[in-house]
Amino acid sequence: MTDSGCLPSVGAMVEATAEDLAAAGVEMPRLEAQLLVAQVLGWSRLQVMTRPEHRIVEEYEEALGRLSSARRRRAPLAYLIGRREFYGFEFSVGPGVLAPRPETELLVDLALEEARRRGAVRMADVCTGSGCVAVALAAALPGSRVLATDVSQAALACAARNAAEQGVSGRVGLVRGHLALPLRSGWAEILVANPPYVPSSVASALQPEVACYEPWLALDGGASGLAIFEELALGARRALEPGGLFASEIGYDQGAAAITLLRDAGFADIVIVRDLAGLDRVVTGRA
Ligand code: GLN
Repeated sequence: MTDSGCLPSVGAMVEATAEDLAAAGVEMPRLEAQLLVAQVLGWSRLQVMTRPEHRIVEEYEEALGRLSSARRRRAPLAYLIGRREFYGFEFSVGPGVLAPRPETELLVDLALEEARRRGAVRMADVCTGSGCVAVALAAALPGSRVLATDVSQAALACAARNAAEQGVSGRVGLVRGHLALPLRSGWAEILVANPPYVPSSVASALQPEVACYEPWLALDGGASGLAIFEELALGARRALEPGGLFASEIGYDQGAAAITLLRDAGFADIVIVRDLAGLDRVVTGRA
């Protein structure tokens, strides 16, 4: 007979994993330990928290060891778990796409507010990545159609999976192409984007999770950080119908420069929207 007392308990595994993660400089070690244990057992985090006495068999212990060591090498938690919550939806993510960031929810809020106000149904999401913005928009607005573009095939495959998982494949079109180029002139009523906007020089200062694991293609905004944004603004102006809304995420210190670039591209009513931390986060303008 096996003596289950020799096997570690869920609670003990959470504690040990949390200590290891803390030593590696992970910011919320306990929460992340609970999530990794939940992932290995196929449990919810709540189950992990409420059944600390449950014993873990060896196979699970080994699987947890592998995840924990990857996390100690600062692989993003979202990649290890394969999921990330965004705008109330669970998205599949993995290497090859940027993990959705909570601050990007502001972009969805602004687009939805506009769509509801004017009954807009034709929307575009440029640089869609995991598809989180496009899918959240389509799911929140039942009659809408969202055209999403990306240059990366891996990103489009991920976005397709997310659209299918949320049941909106029929209303989210995925097109491979550069920025707004695949869009017909004047088609979009609303065009949103989270383009790469990190200045190249800042790359090495990013957190290891971002710098070592996330696709640089999705982050690299050239020397100024706004090289892609500038091109995006011109393309968006063309793809939007007159009066259509453009909304793009920008870096925390890029507001003033973004205003100039949008003005040069022919946009009016340009506004910088700050995030909950009070930083420049989104710029909007009217075509
Ligand atoms: N906010 C992201 C980061 O700091 C950057 C996203 C982007 O370039 N679009 O990692």
